[in-house]
Amino acid sequence: MATCEKCGNAYDKSFEVKIGGKVHVFDSFECAIAAVAPRCTHCGIAIIGHGLEASGKMYCCNHCALHAGEAGLNDRDDTASDRRADPDSNVFSSNAT
Ligand SMILES: [Zn+2]
Ligand SMILES: [Zn+2]
Repeated sequence: MATCEKCGNAYDKSFEVKIGGKVHVFDSFECAIAAVAPRCTHCGIAIIGHGLEASGKMYCCNHCALHAGEAGLNDRDDTASDRRADPDSNVFSSNAT
């Protein structure tokens, strides 16, 4: 039994979240997200997934990063961003004409 640091509920299924060496105790993921999830620099929404990081700031999506003046971000995986790094190269085109 531990007490949620967000809402104060003492709950037998509470759990710990360790971030940056600090341990937090919550009774629910909802409380954990509200308390410790990073916030999008542009829109302020809680970032539940990977999010994007640029210039030390977190964004929920590429749209918000672009609106905040960050260019060149891509919320796809590394393989996809590599393909898109050079807009003039088109790996999907074949040599057949
Ligand atoms: Zn709680
Ligand atoms: Zn956002």
